[in-house]
Amino acid sequence: MALRNLVKNDNEFLGKKSRPVTVFDDKLSTLVEDMKETLRKEVGAGLAAPQVGILRRIFIADIHGDGSEYKEFINPEIISATGKNDRYLEGCLSYPGRSFRITRAHKVKMRAQDVNGNFFDFKAEDFVARCLQHEFDHLEGITIPMIGEEVFENE
Ligand SMILES: [Zn+2]
Repeated sequence: MALRNLVKNDNEFLGKKSRPVTVFDDKLSTLVEDMKETLRKEVGAGLAAPQVGILRRIFIADIHGDGSEYKEFINPEIISATGKNDRYLEGCLSYPGRSFRITRAHKVKMRAQDVNGNFFDFKAEDFVARCLQHEFDHLEGITIPMIGEEVFENE
């Protein structure tokens, strides 16, 4: 395993749409493990492949909201998104030190593949649902400076 370098403050790259994963091989497993190691070191809630320089539809997320497990979502789809949540300010490892106000769905259901290509459904709400929507956006080339209202500390 190895740490990957994060792409930061680069809207030209982070603004691109990622392509689906079609091959579930050792290279993919290594990438996912590297992303998990990188996210653990950065103490983040989620990380998408474009943030480590790879335009493929892969992200990992803290699925319990406590850092105990990072799960991979490959070729994710949003099955449903309901309710509104504006409780949290949102940050991003690619835009360090900045916070944005963004209204997200309160609950989401996603379908994705794991590192072996097996499909699974995953339901989340509140903080975890926000994280999944944030990471999904990265795969569409959408970043929080594009959609959020920046909040400065002394406001
Ligand atoms: Zn992000």
